[in-house]
Amino acid sequence: MEFMMKSPCYDAIPTSCKLVVFDTSLQIKKAFLALVANGVRAAPLWDSKQHCFVGMLTITDFINILHRYYKAPLVQIYELEEHKIETWRGKADTGYLEFLFTPSVFSSLFRAVYSLIKNKIHRLPVMEPISGNILHILTHKRLLKFLHIFGGTIPRPRFLQKTILELGIGTFRDVAVIHESSSIYNALEIFVERRVSALPVVNEAGQVVGLYSRFDVIHLAAQKIYNNLDITVGEALRRRSLCLEGVLMCYPHETLETVIDRIVKEQVHRFVLVDEERRPRGIVSLSDILQALVLTPAGIDALNS
Ligand code: ADP
Ligand code: ADP
Ligand code: AMP
Repeated sequence: MEFMMKSPCYDAIPTSCKLVVFDTSLQIKKAFLALVANGVRAAPLWDSKQHCFVGMLTITDFINILHRYYKAPLVQIYELEEHKIETWRGKADTGYLEFLFTPSVFSSLFRAVYSLIKNKIHRLPVMEPISGNILHILTHKRLLKFLHIFGGTIPRPRFLQKTILELGIGTFRDVAVIHESSSIYNALEIFVERRVSALPVVNEAGQVVGLYSRFDVIHLAAQKIYNNLDITVGEALRRRSLCLEGVLMCYPHETLETVIDRIVKEQVHRFVLVDEERRPRGIVSLSDILQALVLTPAGIDALNS
């Protein structure tokens, strides 16, 4: 907690990185294809009339648009084909965040963690305050990796040796899952209603056989198959290119330290907690870990408030 309070966001920014920005007058469909083409997961939005950044475009927005306008297989989604980003943003009830959360490069990493968790977002553009330029988009992954590398120089808290079960880090009740034979549209419905970032995929026996994350929805754009959301989750997982084989899991008896080491190495946003029969018992996400490492010691519960 103290280390993150003392470190500015600037310290966690890589020396060189790519940042893709979209003008709000860009067509929505082109914007999502551009995310795929550039291999990025989100882009800040620039309003050229107001001359400022006004928001973010993420895969969650693609999910919200598909969920709202999809009618039936092979029926073109007119709104996706024709609308501009500004048209979508101008509509009421889109779930769009009105305010752009952009810390300055001088803000502390503690603030950045708080902002990500409190606002339930996964992208934090960091701004250079004099020019108003965005330098980088911070994520949970980047923050935990930074803490993992540079936190090695400070004494390790003793609770890292306790097990996930003892510490209760993660979500263990009411875990949102999806059946492998359910449709992609069902998965989108759960993403929108529960606001979860990923769903363990289960088979007939209720065992975890895969993971479908919000990020995976971008493959629908990459493969131009978003006009058929009736395909099953199992089928979508098989069609997914460039993905991790299987599902990354953790167990209740593992120590927090082991889980952190493994999750940083695997570069994923969460592990599915399973029992001996491989049934889903919980989710241990980077939000849970950062809350426990950085915010809980400061007496702040941003996850549940
Ligand atoms: P994903 O996990 O798909 O990358 P997020 O959880 O970050 O998406 O985004 C959830 C919603 O919040 C989206 O509508 C996105 O446009 C918006 N959003 C994300 N980051 C920010 C931010 N820093 N400021 C304002 N809105 C944001
Ligand atoms: P991000 O948070 O960077 O947008 P995610 O970590 O959610 O991305 O997902 C990136 C890729 O890793 C996706 O294809 C997703 O299915 C996969 N993935 C994420 N978590 C797991 C996991 N626990 N097991 C297997 N695959 C995973
Ligand atoms: P995330 O959006 O993954 O950063 O997680 C935010 C919170 O939602 C964390 O407390 C996670 O444990 C929880 N969470 C993530 N995925 C699920 C899921 N499928 N079911 C229930 N809770 C989840």
